Amino acid sequence: MAKITLDDVTKRFGDGGEAVVAVDEISLDIEDGEFVVFVGPSGSGKSTLMRIVAGLETQSEGDVAIGNTVVNQLGPRARDIAMVFQNYALYPNMTVEENMSFGLKMSTNLSEEEVEEKVTSAAEMMGIGNLLDNRPGELSGGQQQRVALGRAIVRDPNVFLMDEPLSNLDAKLRASMRTEINRLQNDLGVTTLYVTHDQTEAMTMGDRLVVLNYGELQQVGTPLECFYRPANQFVAGFLGSPSMNFFEGSVEGGTLRADGFDYDLTQQMQSSVGKRNEVVLGARPEDITIHDQSTADTGFEAVVDVVEPMGSISYVYLQPTAQETDQTFVVETDGQRPISESQHVAVEIPGDDVHLFDTATGETIHQRRLDSEAEVALNEQM
Ligand code: ADP
Ligand code: MG
Repeated sequence: MAKITLDDVTKRFGDGGEAVVAVDEISLDIEDGEFVVFVGPSGSGKSTLMRIVAGLETQSEGDVAIGNTVVNQLGPRARDIAMVFQNYALYPNMTVEENMSFGLKMSTNLSEEEVEEKVTSAAEMMGIGNLLDNRPGELSGGQQQRVALGRAIVRDPNVFLMDEPLSNLDAKLRASMRTEINRLQNDLGVTTLYVTHDQTEAMTMGDRLVVLNYGELQQVGTPLECFYRPANQFVAGFLGSPSMNFFEGSVEGGTLRADGFDYDLTQQMQSSVGKRNEVVLGARPEDITIHDQSTADTGFEAVVDVVEPMGSISYVYLQPTAQETDQTFVVETDGQRPISESQHVAVEIPGDDVHLFDTATGETIHQRRLDSEAEVALNEQM
């Protein structure tokens, strides 16, 4: 078991003006036994950071420590880390048992019996005890990924690094493996760094999220903290599906003039806005309501562009009707509610459950209201 400390870690590829900054001055303390999920879009530096921790890549600047030891000069083998990748790279000519025991036989002095015991117990844990004599080609994708995880477990490492390990699996299997990795990490208590570009995995898996964009750290926090208290517009838009709706607008007194509608700012919002002339309003699809136009006396008018029925809910894509506009937004509605394309509705964006962002920097200047119990729970996490 070990804590991990990143201190101002930077990685540049290439020289001078051509250089790509893949990882940009990342500092982070990961506790012993913690499950931390690194999330961000493709190219945000997640894999590079994992490879630096593993010792497969050398940082341009900064220090990496595992436990209390700075490991900058240590090779991958000396770091006592087990990695699981998207391409799990099992040896095709070896059986499952041989695949799982190979690393142990190479790197330890364990006896045959000890190796067998470890492999059997890891295989049981991963539910592949009956497949030990099979070769990878005879296994499904999910079973192969279990072998790869089992191979990492038998190493009994200080740290697990997992880089998009579920990307090659179909949606259903991905969901069940998510649960399984959660349970496994819980049981083993091994410090785990898990990389994904998938916001669902990020929300459901880690103790903490590290949100990255362009190699820069955007926010570190529990999943719910990042979701309900996003540090900036990027985090707000990245977590949640469909994404938070953003409405750019100019501020005139107590009113935000957005593209296609006016929105009344509360006193509290007005003081958050301060002297800014422009801000971005953010509202999640589940917080906006649509009413039958004939009965509504508040809100603004919009026309339904597309309806995506999901079953229990529907996603309704809309456009304000007031003027020619490119603004579109999405609202979550009850799946049983009849609604059709081209229908006109009245839209209500709530006064409390919205965020405001600085238009220039993207920084959050106003956070949504939370239920008081949620507020307390979240403050305890922070
Ligand atoms: P992610 O895993 O988040 O998709 P990566 O860490 O793979 O991102 O890449 C981050 C950035 O670094 C990207 O712009 C990528 O093109 C660049 N990069 C990664 N590896 C190399 C390399 N070996 N040589 C040059 N550029 C690289
Ligand atoms: Mg990657």
